[in-house]
Amino acid sequence: MNNEPLVLVVEDDAPIRNLIATTLKTRGYPYVTANDGKTAIMLATARNPDVILLDLGLPDTDGTEVIKTVRRWTDAPIIVISARTDDKDKIAALDLGADDYLTKPFSVEELLARLRVMQRRLANAVNKGDPVFVNGDLKIDFQAGCAYMNGEELHLTPIEFKLLCLLAGNVDKVLTHTYITRHVWGAAWENNVSSLRVFMATLRKKLDRGDGFPQYIQTRVGVGYRMPRM
Ligand code: CA
Repeated sequence: MNNEPLVLVVEDDAPIRNLIATTLKTRGYPYVTANDGKTAIMLATARNPDVILLDLGLPDTDGTEVIKTVRRWTDAPIIVISARTDDKDKIAALDLGADDYLTKPFSVEELLARLRVMQRRLANAVNKGDPVFVNGDLKIDFQAGCAYMNGEELHLTPIEFKLLCLLAGNVDKVLTHTYITRHVWGAAWENNVSSLRVFMATLRKKLDRGDGFPQYIQTRVGVGYRMPRM
């Protein structure tokens, strides 16, 4: 197996597609490109890429349709590329199973940083299903229902523990407000974003060891939250 993941680039805008391709080429990432949704689905099936970079505004179909289709058989990380400033599109893409997003215009460095995160996720994927989760100084014992920071037990409420487990189970993935509230409180409460903010603020305080760093819970303004791999 190749050490570098195969990247599928789906982008109809030629200058952007070429910029991404050049970046991937110089960094040694193997890649394939598609300029519409139909080709994207065909290549996703034929080449089984490890990471998918997906523009949402495609000539033949909406990028969200591509996510719906490929998510039926692959868990490969999907990074949405969108020129749209409307958060709704990003949120819809994340709720359909995308992992992260880049807003155009983005820098080559931003693109590479996102790819590194996804590579790390792929490397850590084998650890899924472990009864104990470790990320930096944070440790969660799922079976015992306990979480520890630096070996010291955190005193979490049941809701805070559920929130922490949900983020930990999806390290490096951006989880939307709707996704989180639906999983923690149930569908009836999925618009309860203000309560979620309050719970997240308290949870974050409990994870903090004084200076606010490192941040185990990152906020994506207007979109949701993400726990980075430390
Ligand atoms: Ca486009």
